[in-house]
Amino acid sequence: MKRMLAGVACAAFAGSSVLFAQVSPPAPAAPVLSAEAANIDAEVDEGLKKLGLDPADVKYVVVSHGHVDHAGGAKFLQDKYGARLVMSAADYDLMERNTPTWRPKRDMIATDGMALTLGDFTMTLYLTPGHTDGTISTVFPVRDGDRRHLVATWGGTSFNFGPIRARLLSYAQQADRFRALTAQAGADVILSNHPGLDGTHARVAALRTRTPGDPHPFVVGNGVMQRYLTAVGQCAQAALEIVSA
Ligand SMILES: [Zn+2]
Repeated sequence: MKRMLAGVACAAFAGSSVLFAQVSPPAPAAPVLSAEAANIDAEVDEGLKKLGLDPADVKYVVVSHGHVDHAGGAKFLQDKYGARLVMSAADYDLMERNTPTWRPKRDMIATDGMALTLGDFTMTLYLTPGHTDGTISTVFPVRDGDRRHLVATWGGTSFNFGPIRARLLSYAQQADRFRALTAQAGADVILSNHPGLDGTHARVAALRTRTPGDPHPFVVGNGVMQRYLTAVGQCAQAALEIVSA
């Protein structure tokens, strides 16, 4: 992951300071089980160290939404390393209603359009409620050698909240809004917070055989970004069609 894209090392695994929290259990598509949550601390700690990064360097943990496979390691990083947690108010509320054992302390509250800056790195956060009431999607710069790119992450993908019209409607509207935002910004790298959903494993494998001059496997271009966000929005619209009013 460290060599994935220069900014992602910074943003994704706290290379210089920011952790974009993606604490996936071993089987991201599986229902969340407490046993998986119990392994998260070791995954975060050992995973960062395996990448040659010091977990104590983590300054911010930006959590896309309050489900255990994304927020489950936040308490550990708060308690052990004093990292600041950034989440939406709605998803702090979600965790407080459910009171899981891994619930972190309420800390910084993300707002729509919020810029989180460390040195010359700035991540922009957008509230895109749908997958949860306070799902955060982000945009941030990365580098591939001298080339600059812009990453966009869609903060929550599945409709596992059930047939709730208001949520599906919000999901569709936010996908459309985020599509317009990322079009205007020129984002050309899309990262899912579930590696199984965006071809991450194949792309990482492709990096191993990449030779100078080859395109970067994670840089898909703004057109693909637009089509991806159009598709997720249309999926929400389609789901709305079959959910009774
Ligand atoms: Zn989720």
